[in-house]
Parts: sequence; C-alpha cells; structure tokens
Amino acid sequence: HVPVITVDGPTASGKGTLASEVARRLGYHYLDSGALYRITALAAVRAGLALDVAHEHTIAKMAETLPVRFAGGRVFLGDDDITDAIRTEEAGMNASRVSALPAVRTALVALQQSFRKLPGLVADGRDMGTVIFPDAPMKVYLTASAAQRAQRRHKQLISKGISTTIDTLRADLEARDHRDSSRAVAPLKPAEDALLLDNSSQTIEESVAQVLQWWEG
Ligand code: C5P
Repeated sequence: HVPVITVDGPTASGKGTLASEVARRLGYHYLDSGALYRITALAAVRAGLALDVAHEHTIAKMAETLPVRFAGGRVFLGDDDITDAIRTEEAGMNASRVSALPAVRTALVALQQSFRKLPGLVADGRDMGTVIFPDAPMKVYLTASAAQRAQRRHKQLISKGISTTIDTLRADLEARDHRDSSRAVAPLKPAEDALLLDNSSQTIEESVAQVLQWWEG
C-alpha cells in the first residue's frame, strides 16, 4: 500500500511549508489540496458565478473537470498561469466559500486521491486525515496561535510588497477558520488518531525534524 502522511490544520499554520519539505526529504509526492479549492473558486469567479449554494452543482461540475496542470512549480488553468492569482487573501476566502459546498468537496475527492502514488505522498489541507486519506499511517495536526499565524502571514505579504496590517490578517484568518470549522461537511478538526504539533515557537527545521522523527520512529 502506498504510504501517506497527512498534515491538516488551520489557515497559515505553516502546513504547506512543512508538508512540502517533508515530501522533499522523503522523495514523496506532495498534494496541496487547498490549491484545488482555490483554483475551483477562481474558475467559478471567472465564469461570473456567485460562490453560493445556488450554483453548487455548476461549480461542482467545474471542479470535476478542472483543466488544471502543475508544471515547474507553476499552476495553470487551461493556458493561464494562475500561480499568483490563487495566492491572494481574497482567493483564500473564496476557496473557503466554495469548500463549504458539499457537492464541490465530493467532486474533488478522486482528483485528490489520484496523487497517492509510489513511493509515497504527503498531503496538506483541512480534511486529509479525516476524509480523503482516513487510512493514512501517520496524521499530523498542525497548529499555531492566531497571533503567530497572523504575524507570519504579514511577514510573507510584506516581503512580496503587499501592504496590510496584522490586525486585518488576524481577523481574516479567524473568520476563515471559523467557516472551515463550523461547516456541516468535513469540518476542520484533528483526526482521532492525529499527532498534534504546535509550531508557535518552533523553527521550520524543528517542525520538519519532529515529523521525520515520528515517521522514522
Ligand atoms: O490551505 P489553503 O489556505 O490554501 O486553503 C484554502 C481554503 O480551502 C481553506 O480555507 C479551506 O476552506 C479550503 N480547504 C478545504 N479542505 C482542504 C483544503 C482547503 O476545505 N483539504
């Protein structure tokens, strides 16, 4: 059976950084499941659809047939390079909106599971351990305080020349966490058999080393 390590947790907890680095060290594939919700939301916005239940089935159809391609660290929707467009705060909020629609979640299951290939996979998101890969041999639930997460996101955006305040970011990420944790389907929560990792006062290297130690342990 192909091994999978799942890394779930709230917005800006550092899942992507941790999961992609662990994948690199192990030579495993990497799935950024949040990107699929971001791409779906972008495709729907570009098609002029409101991101609500009235369009649930249309958006789900789009999700099922997304002309998405990952190549050389870039993300393409058809011929469009959407790498930067899906990384804005607004794209994250829109992703959270479409991800609350059950039919959209169902439409993305097979695509996510298709990333499980030898020699192994590290998958990050909100429901990797609870819904998509419930049989994963190791599940990590990554958290950090809201203050810490807002501060890290702020540093990231500033380095990209985007100006914003820590307070705005913190309010946004708490709103997104609230929506993600309170939705009816696949709410954000640790799997029962998840290992909890709070990286508030850890460097990236320390978190990576911890996960590799658990895996090799
Ligand atoms: O992780 P990221 O910030 O890219 O995810 C964007 C949004 O997509 C999240 O706020 C969440 O609502 C949704 N998502 C999800 N399930 C996943 C990954 C992301 O619902 N497995």
